[in-house]
Amino acid sequence: MTPGRPPPPAPEPAPTADQATEDAMSNATNVSPAHSASTASTLITNIAALVTNDPSSGDGSPLGLVQDAAIAIEGNRVVWTGDQSKAPATDNRVDAGGRAVLPGFVDSHSHLVFAGDRTQEFNARMSGRAYSAGGIRTTVAATRAASDEDLERNLTRYLAEALRQGTTTFETKSGYGLTVEDEARALRIAAAHTDEVTYLGAHIVSPDHADDPAGYVSLVTGEMLDACAPYARWIDVFCEKGAFDGDQARAILTAGKARGLHPRIHANQLSYGPGVQLAVELDAASADHCTHLTSEDVDALANSRTVATLLPGAEFSTRAEWPDARRLLDAGVTVALSTDCNPGSSFTSSVPFCVALAVRDMGMTPDEAVWSATAGGAAALRREDIGRLTPGAYADLILLDAPSHVHLAYRPGVPLVSGVWRRGMRVV
Ligand SMILES: [Zn+2]
Repeated sequence: MTPGRPPPPAPEPAPTADQATEDAMSNATNVSPAHSASTASTLITNIAALVTNDPSSGDGSPLGLVQDAAIAIEGNRVVWTGDQSKAPATDNRVDAGGRAVLPGFVDSHSHLVFAGDRTQEFNARMSGRAYSAGGIRTTVAATRAASDEDLERNLTRYLAEALRQGTTTFETKSGYGLTVEDEARALRIAAAHTDEVTYLGAHIVSPDHADDPAGYVSLVTGEMLDACAPYARWIDVFCEKGAFDGDQARAILTAGKARGLHPRIHANQLSYGPGVQLAVELDAASADHCTHLTSEDVDALANSRTVATLLPGAEFSTRAEWPDARRLLDAGVTVALSTDCNPGSSFTSSVPFCVALAVRDMGMTPDEAVWSATAGGAAALRREDIGRLTPGAYADLILLDAPSHVHLAYRPGVPLVSGVWRRGMRVV
């Protein structure tokens, strides 16, 4: 299914997201009809509050919150949700003990194929000291020097970490290779672990082309695109002063579209600029960051299918101005919340942490933040089979050690995720 798929990694002590998928997939291949009698079914019952993200369920809110609920799983899919007193008979039962259940988090923006870290840079920034290292270039150098095995080991480590915190779907990008071979290698490694792979050769102008940015854009839209397209679903560009301007970004995304990749954009993070308008013009699935927006930018998003993906880990870790989620939501924009997990500007794999920040500092209600981290992330990936717990959706779900999803913001920093099911299998 994935071109150039390498052999599976050595077994890890903890199950990784990848291993969980593989297990679930191999189960599914033997029981192709979803409702066959040989498919084990499970009922999770005694759920104090079930977030379905189906407004036609439960309280009728966007979260479709059902109290005293149960959820039935068959194979890798949800087959039923509702009042526990009306639950169907199943092979197995799990007692949720009066806890909350919600869809697994959909982290629609991360940069997990890298080597090295940037502890000193972070420490200097947080200590008010100047630090003249190369930022992204530091990670590019470390990533180029790393073996495939090192990159794979690093990736699976952060995936396992994210899974323990409730992330059941993640997108990840290249962007620390910036040569034809290194970008293709990063995507090949990523594609062994997720279907949501993004080609970000246009992260910054490669240091090898520092004096020839136009030549680098030609490479990104030519030979590098040819090598990377087979492994990717998406194409991304960092549209920002010091990275790529609007015309360069348009050329890069348009070339990607011509190769069957769908656009998403790092837009309006550090300054006002053309990124959001370009995202809407090209029907990008997502404009990511959206910290500096004009009213025209907000209007354009509100009248489009493009999701605004907010990444509060970046503002937290750089002490930058928060994106104004309230303004976007009030205008009718669809908002997603993601980690932006990367070793430079946001080294967190924790969606619950981002939910807490969004509620505390970006004007989101707890309900909105939980929706954005689940259904919002799914919308940013144009997926309808994840981010919700409705019949037919993948059985990707989280059991919280709390009676309500609100505790994700109410109890910041507390490891509340006490169980994770991915594709119908309990993996945490
Ligand atoms: Zn990013």
